[in-house]
Amino acid sequence: MNLPITYNNVLEASIRLKDKAIKTPVFTSRTANQHSGASLFFKCENFQHVGAFKFRGAYNAIASLSDEQRQKGVLTFSSGNHAQAIAYASHLFGIQALIVMPEDAPEIKVAATKGYGAKIHFYDRYQQNREVIANQLAEEHGYSIIPPYDHPDVIAGQGTCAKELIEEVGLLDYLFVPLGGGGLLAGSLLTAKTLLPSVKVIGVEPEAGNDAQQSLRSGQIVTIETPKSIADGALTTHIGNYNFQIIRNLVDDIVTVKDNDLISMMNFFASRMKIIVEPTACLGAAAVFNALIPVKNKRVGIILSGGNVDMKQFAQWIS
Ligand SMILES: *Cc1c(COP(=O)(O)O)cnc(C)c1O
Repeated sequence: MNLPITYNNVLEASIRLKDKAIKTPVFTSRTANQHSGASLFFKCENFQHVGAFKFRGAYNAIASLSDEQRQKGVLTFSSGNHAQAIAYASHLFGIQALIVMPEDAPEIKVAATKGYGAKIHFYDRYQQNREVIANQLAEEHGYSIIPPYDHPDVIAGQGTCAKELIEEVGLLDYLFVPLGGGGLLAGSLLTAKTLLPSVKVIGVEPEAGNDAQQSLRSGQIVTIETPKSIADGALTTHIGNYNFQIIRNLVDDIVTVKDNDLISMMNFFASRMKIIVEPTACLGAAAVFNALIPVKNKRVGIILSGGNVDMKQFAQWIS
C-alpha cells in the first residue's frame, strides 16, 4: 500500500501545532455510556481555535509554505469553518487571506471570518464552481490556494486531533469521525491505524450527502448534486483525491445519519453535557446513539468536530 501521506506527516504537523492549537478536552458522560452500553470518549474540537478542528489543517498548511509564498498571501474556498481557520491562522502569521465563500453561508461564519481580517469573495453555490473561481483569483494575485480537505498538509494537520485523543485515552475499539470532503477522516485514519492497528474507524456522512459511501462501495470517487442537509460542514459533492486514496485503503466503513438524529444529538449535548455542538459535528455521535454499528461494551472515540452554529437556528431546532 503506497499512500501519498503517512503518519510521519501527522507527527511533523503536531510539532508545528505545539502551543498553537488548543489541546482540546476529552469529555465522558455516564448518561451517554448507559444509553449506548459502551465507554464513549468525546474529543471536543468545539473548544478548538475558531470552534472547529479545521484550525489544525489550516495552520499546518500555512506553516508549511515558504516565506516567499506566505508573503503573497493565501486563498481558500469553504462553507465556513475552514474559512475561519485560514483567516485566523493567516492573522497569526500576519499575512493576507482571501476567502471564496457561498453567499448562503451561515451568518455567524461570515462575521467571524471578517472579524479575523480576511477578505471575502461571495459566490452562488448552486450555480458557480468555487474551484474555478478560486483558481482565477489565485492566478491574478499570486495567492497560494489552501483547499479545505484535498491537500496533504491539511490532512496531516487534521490527523493531530485523533493523535491527542489516543494519547489521552489509550486503547480504543472504535473511532467515529464526521465526514465531508474527507480531510478529518483521512488524517484520523493515518493516526489511528498507526497507533492502534486493531481500531475500527467509521466515517459518518449526512444521509442526503452520502457521496463518500457511494465512492467506497463503487471503488471510485462519486460526485453528487450539492446535498441539502443541516450538516453544513459536510455539503461536499465529492471527496478529495488524496482523501479517497487514504480512505479506501484504511477505513472500516462509512455510514449515514438523518438530519433529525443530528438535532436529537445537539439537544443531548446541550442539555446533558452542557456543550454546543454544531450539526455536522454530531454525525459520529448520532451513528453511535442510533446503533448503526454495534459497540456494546467497547471503548469508542467520537470526534465532536466543531461548535459553530447560529444560536437562533439552534434554538429553533432544539424546540
Ligand atoms: C469541515 C467539517 C467537517 C468535515 O470535515 P472534512 O475534512 O471535510 O471531511 C466536519 N465537521 C465540522 C465541524 C467541519 O467544519
